[in-house]
Amino acid sequence: MTDCLFCKIAAGEIPAHVVKREGRLLAFRDINPQAPTHVLVIPTQHVSSLNDAADARLLGELLVFARTLAHEQGLAERGYRVVLNTNADGGQTVFHLHLHLLGGRRMTWPPG
Ligand code: 5GP
Ligand code: ZN
Repeated sequence: MTDCLFCKIAAGEIPAHVVKREGRLLAFRDINPQAPTHVLVIPTQHVSSLNDAADARLLGELLVFARTLAHEQGLAERGYRVVLNTNADGGQTVFHLHLHLLGGRRMTWPPG
């Protein structure tokens, strides 16, 4: 997708603080962090949202990648949250599939 922000980050056309790149996934720091650690994990190939993600293996890789990152970022033991906002009611603002990994503070429930 030529006009997609996260495709441009994946291609290195827009700078981002990359945390990890492996296989078909990329992790970078959120520009507006909502927790001491706030990392976005994306597939490097464009997928608009969870609704459009047809590749179940890719979705599995996304979760395993987030879990590995949580360990590497020192979040695993205390805990962390993964969030996948989908479409308008879900609060999705960037229409390239991404998982939020949030940690470093106590999360509240219910979410806003
Ligand atoms: P959503 O609301 O779609 O679930 O999440 C989009 C996230 O992308 C937001 O948390 C927002 O702060 C982040 N974001 C938006 N534009 C940029 C950008 O240019 N660079 C980075 N690193 N994050 C961005
Ligand atoms: Zn994209």
